[in-house]
Amino acid sequence: MAKHTIVLIAGDGIGPEVTAAARRVIDAAGASTGTQFDWISMPAGEAAIKTDGDTLPEKTLDAVTQYKVGLKGPVGTPIGKGFRSVNVTLRKKLDLYAAVRPVRSMPNVKTRYENVDIVIFRENTEGLYTGIENEIAPGVVTSLKVATQKACDRISRSAFRYANRRRRKKVTVFHKANIMKITDGLFLKCAKRVWEEEYPNIEYEELIIDNGCMQLVKDPTRFDVLLMENLYGDLISDLCAGLVGGLGVVPGANIGDVAAVFEAVHGTAPDIAGKGVANPLACIMSGVMMLNYIADTHHDDAARLAAEKIKNAYNGTLSEGKVLTRDLGGTAGTDQFADALIEKIKG
Ligand code: NAD
Repeated sequence: MAKHTIVLIAGDGIGPEVTAAARRVIDAAGASTGTQFDWISMPAGEAAIKTDGDTLPEKTLDAVTQYKVGLKGPVGTPIGKGFRSVNVTLRKKLDLYAAVRPVRSMPNVKTRYENVDIVIFRENTEGLYTGIENEIAPGVVTSLKVATQKACDRISRSAFRYANRRRRKKVTVFHKANIMKITDGLFLKCAKRVWEEEYPNIEYEELIIDNGCMQLVKDPTRFDVLLMENLYGDLISDLCAGLVGGLGVVPGANIGDVAAVFEAVHGTAPDIAGKGVANPLACIMSGVMMLNYIADTHHDDAARLAAEKIKNAYNGTLSEGKVLTRDLGGTAGTDQFADALIEKIKG
């Protein structure tokens, strides 16, 4: 029986609830396909301040470096003060440069749109998220936006490689190079060069991001793969989540050349934390992305089968519409939804 070690970072707010549910579902799928998972729990976020005096203890980074795969819940980041952002630091230190976020219409989840199928590629290590901010004179503060050719090239290559492998037709770059001529200009130049030199078979489009937002809410089905720098990707991810039913149904992956950490797009949802009502689906879907990553990197067909089983289970459960969490118009709690999936997986 194949055995894989996964670093589990439960995080804050609804993190422990949704990651626990996802773990149970993944274990059930593993048991039914002959794959075993060893989970190593590691602290991060506000919870880790109490236990380790740091929001991102070195041992957590070491564990992901060692085992190369992690499933993570959201972590709280104090606004305007205090500790460094755990997410930004984790992504930078482990060089998880590509945030990959598939946004798809789900069965029986009613929204204004049908047939949305977009995959966002967000650059994860630079842009305005370098955290280089200074007060240069009393009452005058600056924030430094960084773009490097290396980072722009590799995120562009990731997006085109993905599009090519998955038989996607088009990559659209959102930018603001009309204003930020040098930084966004470099991003555009790199994306265009990767397209021209390596993937001319794929359609390429550039849109100024304000126009892109308007086009997205007018007709999201015209988009396929979206490519953009860090801040734009953060904002567009939530906007796109709104097109398909909210943050409860959008998974994500942070992928580097040697390690990957999978996590939903949503945050700690303090308004519903601890109530057992959070939708664990986005975290479970992130787990499916993780199983496919394990299947690819370890050539493990059983992991792929486990992913397929989970996907069928949530598609089936949503289609039946009997067990849905509150954000999707139902009354089920986090565990109840996970139990419904597990029942289907066990068959
Ligand atoms: P949020 O995503 O936590 O919540 C936004 C809204 O969506 C809330 O109404 C919430 O109840 C709802 N929601 C989110 N996930 C849900 C789920 N799984 N099921 C049902 N409803 C869900 O965004 P926020 O309130 O802006 O951020 C709260 C905290 O989370 C902040 O500290 C922020 O920094 C942090 N955050 C962390 C991450 C991460 O760790 N990856 C990502 C985003 C935000």
